[in-house]
Amino acid sequence: MTNISKMDRSKLRDIFTFNSLNIDEVHVGKDKTEKYLFKLSDGNYIESVVMNYENRISACLSTQVGCKFACRFCASGKGGFVRHLTVGEIVEQLYHIVCRSKRKVKNIVFMGIGEPLDNYDNLIDAIDILTHFKTFNIGKRKITVSTIGITDKILKLAATQLNVKLAVSLHAPTDALRRKIMSAASKYTVDSIIDACIKYRERTKKRVTIEYLLIDGVNDNDANAYKLAKLIKHSGFYVNLIPYNEIPNCSFKTSVRTIAFKNILRDYGITVEIRNSKGDDIEGACGQLRIGKIKDNGSKK
Ligand code: SAH
Repeated sequence: MTNISKMDRSKLRDIFTFNSLNIDEVHVGKDKTEKYLFKLSDGNYIESVVMNYENRISACLSTQVGCKFACRFCASGKGGFVRHLTVGEIVEQLYHIVCRSKRKVKNIVFMGIGEPLDNYDNLIDAIDILTHFKTFNIGKRKITVSTIGITDKILKLAATQLNVKLAVSLHAPTDALRRKIMSAASKYTVDSIIDACIKYRERTKKRVTIEYLLIDGVNDNDANAYKLAKLIKHSGFYVNLIPYNEIPNCSFKTSVRTIAFKNILRDYGITVEIRNSKGDDIEGACGQLRIGKIKDNGSKK
């Protein structure tokens, strides 16, 4: 743009960028799930996943490079935490997905790499942009934020009036068991998380999902199911049982007790579904592609 001053042009060059990320690889699974590996302008990598359901397309977006919380079962935290994504980098994941697929994405889940509520301000700005009628016009009701359970941020989110759906990765019904698999459990207790979820539901009238990853011999016995059932019996929460997607260099295995676990919850009157696992053949679990890429490239994060 030569019709503006040199000084303004240099200012714009310093402040703005056109492409903050580029598609590095796209993997398409047998079930048509697409996994995008994006290269950021500083050489880091992140991932997004596009899941095709019968009546909708859902995009799973990342909010960080790496993850601070290093849950033992998850590939995202394996290389440590690198940095938060900018608002642009969060939004641009969807931009590339929509441009490439030429289809309308209706649902967004913040379940990619990182902890969305730990990048709170950028997440909120990104949601504002993604839902704007002049951009992607995504319905706020069609957005789900998944968190390890950062209680103060859950309450802050409840106060925004954004009214997005909340999903909490509980994965264990007691603090002792949760601490064995999630380092964040020492800071955020199960009771404080349930309390924050109840408040979120009251204030937003939105559905709260309890995510429970079933890991063989770790958190999948009947006693765990009964404890979880008692914990959330009258809450009205919805439980999503997640089949564990095995990752390299981690001894955790997929549970074979999914149905038995589900039946115990159902008998307590809890609404429970088993997550329809997608993209298993293309390393669909959070952070798997990125970790593979870091290994291939040696030092590059
Ligand atoms: N930090 C957020 C969002 C990212 S992870 C959170 O923890 O909720 C999104 C979901 O995928 C979480 O429930 C997480 O526990 C789960 N997950 C992580 N690794 C997984 C794996 N290998 N197989 C299946 N689910 C996994």
